[in-house]
Amino acid sequence: MNFNEYPIESLMYITNRPDIVFTHGKGSWLYDNNGKRYLDFIQGWAVNSLGHCNDGMLEALNTQAKLLLNPSPAFYNEPMARLAGLLTQHSCFDKVFFANSGAEANEGAIKLARKWGKKFKDGAFEIITFDHSFHGRTLATMSASGKPGWDTIYAPQVPGFPKADLNDIASVEKLINAKTVAVMLEPIQGEGGVIPATREFMQQLRELTKKHNLLLIVDEVQSGCGRAGTLFAYELSGIEPDIMTLGKGIGGGVPLAALLSKKEIAVFEAGDQGGTYNGNPLMTAVGYSVISQLTAPGFLEGVRERGEYLRARLLELSEERGFNGERGEGLLRALLLGKDIGNQIVEKAREMQPDGVLLNAARPNLLRFMPALNVTTEEIDQMMAMLRSVLDSL
Ligand SMILES: *Cc1c(COP(=O)(O)O)cnc(C)c1O
Repeated sequence: MNFNEYPIESLMYITNRPDIVFTHGKGSWLYDNNGKRYLDFIQGWAVNSLGHCNDGMLEALNTQAKLLLNPSPAFYNEPMARLAGLLTQHSCFDKVFFANSGAEANEGAIKLARKWGKKFKDGAFEIITFDHSFHGRTLATMSASGKPGWDTIYAPQVPGFPKADLNDIASVEKLINAKTVAVMLEPIQGEGGVIPATREFMQQLRELTKKHNLLLIVDEVQSGCGRAGTLFAYELSGIEPDIMTLGKGIGGGVPLAALLSKKEIAVFEAGDQGGTYNGNPLMTAVGYSVISQLTAPGFLEGVRERGEYLRARLLELSEERGFNGERGEGLLRALLLGKDIGNQIVEKAREMQPDGVLLNAARPNLLRFMPALNVTTEEIDQMMAMLRSVLDSL
């Protein structure tokens, strides 16, 4: 690495990064500073829903860049309104607030629930969340997360987030008291290792929260926007939540997130919520392009087909190598390795020659797959062949 050309030591250390610099990408392929290419099954962590540098997104970005960048979030702008309309048209929600990151959208959801509790539930503020959940990296969303160790890194935590066990309704019921205002969960735990909440559990949660007059909040930052094969993962369980957050895939790679709610829950008053870049036309124009492409006739059907295709290939591999099967929905899937070889596979896969493949081990004993939603079956085959040759070399 030429450190004059790339002064990477000026970057604050936050995690171990490989000694390469990515320079450009197209579709499922990413290129580094040495000209090597990588088949990308990470896609910015389930962010680039349409792959790298999607043509429709680029056109929206270029067109909007010449029109208007930022009139201030205190004024309406056209892309902001159009994207909100598209989201309410295609979901069970009536109101949308735009944010810049998943964590910020979740902060908004927490604030909205607390505000609602103050107004309608005698100041109730506790939000039941789940072990192994991931809701973001602000102090409140870290406190809401059930990631092991996160309760102590930046102690003290923000109070009010008791933890239940996913798919165990009794563990939720046990935590409900007069201070409880909501239950918040990922319909599919992403960072936790691609663990779906069962359809039965989602329905039990909806029933339980109705019975106790609690809000049901779904964090669809990772599972939403077509990733699960439906536009939103809550659709898979046939229920309607009160609040939903979106991030990652909604921007297809640009910083955009959203908080959605039913109209009777949207209780913010003037000045309660805001943010300098919220709903800026440049990002919402790109989001409009992304959601339009995802909701175009046949697109989500294609995601489900390619998800099934990936599922079948992973199951074949699992049987062939004696692994523990696979799980997930749509194009968010995990291969259960049965032993802690995930990180070793990830490294070897990236270092393969002449082409590398980018994989992720959300936990040491599994691989997580989150390709572009428009990945081709040929690219899935290519990835599987490359993964097999990595496994052979272990
Ligand atoms: C990534 C993620 C977040 C955080 O999103 P950021 O944009 O990184 O703040 C929150 N919830 C879930 C489920 C996520 O996967």
